[in-house]
Amino acid sequence: MTHDPSARGSRSRLLKWLGISGEDDAAEDAPTAEIANFRDPSAREIWLPAKRRLLGKVADFLIDHDLEVMPWTLEIAYDCVTGANPRLAQMILERTEQGKAVTLQWLEQVMREEKGDGTAEQLVALMSRLEESLDDFTRTTSSARTATSEYGAALQQHVDDLEQVSRAGVVITELAALAKAMMHRTREIEHNLNESEERAMALQNSLDEARRVADEDHLTGLPNRRAFESLLEKELALAGASGEALSVAFVDIDHFKRINDTHGHAAGDRVLKVVAETLSRISDARCHVARHGGEEFAILFRTLSPQKAWDRLDHAREELAERRLVNRATDMPFGRITFSGGIADVFAYANKGDALRAADDALYAAKQAGRNQILLAGAEPPPLRDAA
Ligand code: GH3
Ligand code: MG
Ligand code: MG
Repeated sequence: MTHDPSARGSRSRLLKWLGISGEDDAAEDAPTAEIANFRDPSAREIWLPAKRRLLGKVADFLIDHDLEVMPWTLEIAYDCVTGANPRLAQMILERTEQGKAVTLQWLEQVMREEKGDGTAEQLVALMSRLEESLDDFTRTTSSARTATSEYGAALQQHVDDLEQVSRAGVVITELAALAKAMMHRTREIEHNLNESEERAMALQNSLDEARRVADEDHLTGLPNRRAFESLLEKELALAGASGEALSVAFVDIDHFKRINDTHGHAAGDRVLKVVAETLSRISDARCHVARHGGEEFAILFRTLSPQKAWDRLDHAREELAERRLVNRATDMPFGRITFSGGIADVFAYANKGDALRAADDALYAAKQAGRNQILLAGAEPPPLRDAA
């Protein structure tokens, strides 16, 4: 709503906004056909008193029930006095007859129940939907805030103008009071919108954090299996669209059970972290290392041919195998920690399931061939050498 400095313009705009304007200059952008009909003097004569009576009834309803003037209470009042919602009108009547107050809380509850509870959704789907709603909500609140500020400023001017012409009639004075109350409420809404927006942003941050935690392996900080699977989908789509190479690898720590058996589970956890750190050093924007479960890791190499992926992974294997780790709790050496791996070219297989199986088979073959080595799927395994 834009501000019109002339008192006549302000008044007519407010009347039009309240749906009882008949001024020619105000009918330019009349919101309903009914108001547009006021261009016709006879229609105006018929409808204007009716509109006045209706507004009076709406105001009486709000005053009788001591309800604040808000868009939704106005809507309820309108629905009840016009009979548009007979069920609600009946409920309000019964409540009044019981001597109970028709409060905002009670009305909110009734309206909620009218709309129903909806069905329970899966948590992940709910999170996504909630996130979408939050996005929408953030956009809506910022535009609503701008709109309410503009509306408040324009209304202020209207009220000032109306107060000066209060002698023009009781109706105008009542309208001014009504508009004042609405203006006050608008300011409250503006304030509430600001607060809601802040809460929405905090909720969005919590959701981001929850999503991050849900995708992360707690021990190593690497993406977990769930995250790996969605990364695979994403990288598959990207590589498929761009024609880039995509390789997948499975890695498994050699004789890890021995570490646990000899040094205990806590020491085993520390070794797992060292292996995770070694592997994560080969990761970048196009190479994702994830903990697939237990002492197994999965790696995606986009843009790298299987041979290049092999070079990179084998470098990590060598780096780890050369280290001499010591159990810092007991000063006992862990001995040589090694892993085995299998790599497959994703696009050499009919689907991603087959490609993953091929990488796993190659890992198994690496174990069979003596561990501490990386094998390419489809390649001949080297002669047996137990390197662990
Ligand atoms: P291989 O070379 O054939 O892979 O031998 P392995 O001993 O590594 O294989 P196996 O599957 O027999 O044992 C894996 C062990 O890893 C068993 C399990 O207790 C241990 N493990 C799995 N997850 C964790 C973990 O989070 N922490 C610790 N400390 N141990 C784990
Ligand atoms: Mg294993
Ligand atoms: Mg193992």
